[in-house]
Amino acid sequence: NAKDSGKNKFKFYCPNLNDKIQEEFILENNLRDVLNKDEFFLNYQPIVDINTQKIIGMEALLRWNHPKLGLIPPDKFIPVAENSGFIIDIGKWVLKNACIQAKKMHDLGINIFISVNISVNQLKEENFIEYVSKILKETGINPKYVDLEITESISMENIDYITDVLNKLKYLEVNISMDDFGTGYSSLGQLKNFYISKLKIDRSFIKDIYIDSNSTAIVSAIIAMAKNLNIKVVAEGVEANQQLKFLKDNGCEMAQGYLFSPPVDLQNMENAIKNQIKKNYAE
Ligand code: C2E
Ligand code: MG
Ligand code: MG
Ligand code: MG
Repeated sequence: NAKDSGKNKFKFYCPNLNDKIQEEFILENNLRDVLNKDEFFLNYQPIVDINTQKIIGMEALLRWNHPKLGLIPPDKFIPVAENSGFIIDIGKWVLKNACIQAKKMHDLGINIFISVNISVNQLKEENFIEYVSKILKETGINPKYVDLEITESISMENIDYITDVLNKLKYLEVNISMDDFGTGYSSLGQLKNFYISKLKIDRSFIKDIYIDSNSTAIVSAIIAMAKNLNIKVVAEGVEANQQLKFLKDNGCEMAQGYLFSPPVDLQNMENAIKNQIKKNYAE
């Protein structure tokens, strides 16, 4: 499957270095001053309003192009960056650059939101609110167009601290999205306790919408529940028209996936907005 092949491109030059520990060691050492070397760049994936078929947002997805190791997927290096603490500086870089690009679009009259993935380690960092606030000021972006996507479940021991951080983010007027919804430990608990404006249904549920009646039931229940909680819903990993039609019929507001576009560079993202979605998907 050509769509999945990107995930498997990453190979080390030395064939004996299969060991996960060694792999992580190498990645960690190479991550050390990666921000000074222009090896990082951002791709953007459109998020589409299911009813109007228009692009209303984009997710920034980090890419690492290493001169020797090649393109390393985020699923490989983000966990290493989290464990080594580099995620703090990397996260700042991502948020800043994503906001700069989105603000440039806003200045051209393209008012789409920017979604940025935030690791829980960033949320826990004591200066997090300060630097979000600083980046908002420096870039001049309207915070209503900024979405922070949070993935991992937030452990109960930090619940008071995280609740406080999320409330401060609310005060800064940025939006919080629950990413990969349905896969964590306490997703429902998080909706009850935290200020969340959007949830993104994990693509593992969307994948089987048409094959597996359990997925069908789960997805329609998530959409219905979110409606009652006043939370917007994005379906992730939408690849087929049938999936989109199901989502539309069940009142899901937004979709993201290869059906519309894979993550692309800024130039192609801008072109996609200019051309909008010419096809009609779920008629
Ligand atoms: P995510 O935030 O859930 O991002 C969506 C992932 O699904 C992306 O993988 C995207 O390329 C992929 N995807 C989108 N549409 C489809 C589809 O229709 N089918 C399939 N099979 N896949 C689709 P990607 O770019 O490899 O990123 C993987 C994960 O790495 C992200 O998952 C996110 O958790 C993490 N990540 C990426 N960039 C950052 C970042 O800047 N900071 C942090 N902390 N994490 C990041
Ligand atoms: Mg995400
Ligand atoms: Mg996701
Ligand atoms: Mg994820």
